[in-house]
Amino acid sequence: MKLFDLDGRVAIVTGGNGGIGLGMCRGLADAGASVVVAARNADKGAAAVAELRERGGTAEFVAVDVDSEESCHAMVASAVEKFGRLDILVNNAGISIRKQPEDYALAEFKKVIDTNLNSAFACCQAAYPEMKKAGGGKIINIGSMMSIFGAEFAAPYASSKGGIVQLTRALACAWAKDNIQANSILPGWIDTDMTKTARQVVKGLYESVLARTPAGTWGNVDDFAGIAVFLSSRASDFVTGTAIPIDGGYSIKA
Ligand code: NAP
Repeated sequence: MKLFDLDGRVAIVTGGNGGIGLGMCRGLADAGASVVVAARNADKGAAAVAELRERGGTAEFVAVDVDSEESCHAMVASAVEKFGRLDILVNNAGISIRKQPEDYALAEFKKVIDTNLNSAFACCQAAYPEMKKAGGGKIINIGSMMSIFGAEFAAPYASSKGGIVQLTRALACAWAKDNIQANSILPGWIDTDMTKTARQVVKGLYESVLARTPAGTWGNVDDFAGIAVFLSSRASDFVTGTAIPIDGGYSIKA
């Protein structure tokens, strides 16, 4: 088996029907994995699956609301029913609610933590027995620059994304014995639906990101294909518990 070959592997990508998730689905499908695109919006899911098949990949849509533990378990069961095993889980589904800290209702704070952090834990718990059966697995959790930095408009989001890094480290320690590697990816500022709304709320965001990013551009969703393949392949078998920025240098600029 070639180093980055994912032939015969089965991957679930939550939030795979658009944005960064779809960028990772493209990479995984191109490398040979069978990809389960998991999200709520079935129309976007069907379009993503059609695109992945069009480029020669194998893909199916599975409806999931990651806020529900039951739905996370049903998603894993459905992936195994369709493809017979589970090797790779990408916890990418996420939301943000942007306000000053004093303005959040507690329910809004909890909603962001549920979708971004608690969901990842639930999906990992659901995936664990299947990965053990498969002889090992790869977990990729999507953090953020807000896993490292704070921001005045991001109290729940930064809390959830900081938690993602620590959850990943804990899982990496616990499940190394089962040949499961768990790593986080920390995207910089990427042009997606999520950041389009951020640009409307945060004045001057587009320009300030450009000014700070050594690469001189915002990121593109396809910038995540390579790291998804690396962290899913045997090339990363001795890489676990890390948090890898994919940010054009944003996080290393003084
Ligand atoms: P996006 O285009 O808004 O994608 C978010 C995805 O999450 C959608 O596919 C959405 O699908 C899914 N989702 C949201 N709530 C869900 C739920 N309850 N159950 C199932 N799926 C759900 O945003 P994106 O920018 O690609 O973000 C993807 C990930 O990257 C997120 O975790 C985000 O925090 C992180 N991130 C993004 C940036 C950036 O600059 N864009 C930077 C750092 C981190 P449905 O609505 O169909 O369910």
